[in-house]
Amino acid sequence: MARYTGPVCRMCRVEQKKLMLKGNRCKSDKCPMNKKRSAPGKDPKARPGKRSDYGVQLREKQKLKRIYGMVEKQFRLFFVRAQRMSGIAGENLFVLLERRLDNVVYRMRFAASRSQARQLVLHGHILVDGKKITIPSYLVKADNEISIAEGSKNLTVIKDALREYGKSGVMPWLSLDPDSMKGKFLASPRRSDITDLIDIKEQMIIELYSK
Ligand code: SF4
Repeated sequence: MARYTGPVCRMCRVEQKKLMLKGNRCKSDKCPMNKKRSAPGKDPKARPGKRSDYGVQLREKQKLKRIYGMVEKQFRLFFVRAQRMSGIAGENLFVLLERRLDNVVYRMRFAASRSQARQLVLHGHILVDGKKITIPSYLVKADNEISIAEGSKNLTVIKDALREYGKSGVMPWLSLDPDSMKGKFLASPRRSDITDLIDIKEQMIIELYSK
């Protein structure tokens, strides 16, 4: 699957929002978004123009897609699947995104960013119910146990991430035992549980794709 390989921080500048794509750096003074900067290619002195409805919807979709580190084709497939599920398509989309294995690994504090979590999955460091899974988009189900493979427990990236973030706990739909490097995906979250992405307007993404 093709990936975006350009400068990561540029995506935050385009969206004019901290997308938290680089782990520790995002919380440090080194984050370029801490300095007042205009979007790439824009004259910093130019007055912001009014965006069309399409422009606003497009930016909302790009933000969410970039946060979860997905390319357009894959993101659209998730949308199609969300639409086929019963309930509200926008909420279903969030549930599917949260069930991605790379996201669950990140949320469990085994990695400092979703891209780092993706690498851990691809390199075979992650087990689901004791079985090695190397597909980042694998959808985790309720009661699945996520753990670090025995031979990977000494990896510095995992230990550092757990030390750095483990103390702040995990989201309410997960449980974590940092000592045994194991956690559980207890149940799919509700949209209102995903508090760190509460400002994303998923309805705009649905409207964009429904055109
Ligand atoms: Fe975005 Fe993180 Fe880069 Fe800051 S450091 S611009 S939040 S990816």
